[in-house]
Amino acid sequence: MKLELKNASMDFFREKCKVNNLKVTPQRLVIYKELFVSKDHPNAEVLYNRVKDIIPDISFDTVNRTLLTFSKIGIVNIVEGYGEPRRFDPDIENHHHFRCIKCDSIIDFDYHPYKDISVPGDIKKRFIVLNKKVLLEGYCNKCHQNK
Ligand SMILES: [Zn+2]
Ligand SMILES: [Zn+2]
Repeated sequence: MKLELKNASMDFFREKCKVNNLKVTPQRLVIYKELFVSKDHPNAEVLYNRVKDIIPDISFDTVNRTLLTFSKIGIVNIVEGYGEPRRFDPDIENHHHFRCIKCDSIIDFDYHPYKDISVPGDIKKRFIVLNKKVLLEGYCNKCHQNK
């Protein structure tokens, strides 16, 4: 598991905003910071509730739109393959996920051998593969014990 996020820092945030002509507003800063310290891949609703503690008059729509803008300029990732609502990930480095099928928690992990997974020839012919992510699903500790 990663303790340090190499790319995701405030400098990185400011820099990315600058090259994408996005103003670093106090609201955007708070939304990014809150997501950055979140390890649980929150959806917009969950993050909205955290941000609201800091900026009480912010709207859900603002938080939601800001997250989508962040994902467009590549400073956050949308966790794919988990359906709605979208889950957001501040870690844009390649890493893998374990997902609990009962409580829906998503946990990051790194495992070096997964980086060497080979791409089927058929896929190689048809597409350019940029990313290989592995998703493991099952029960987290908590859900396993309560089963
Ligand atoms: Zn669970
Ligand atoms: Zn992740």
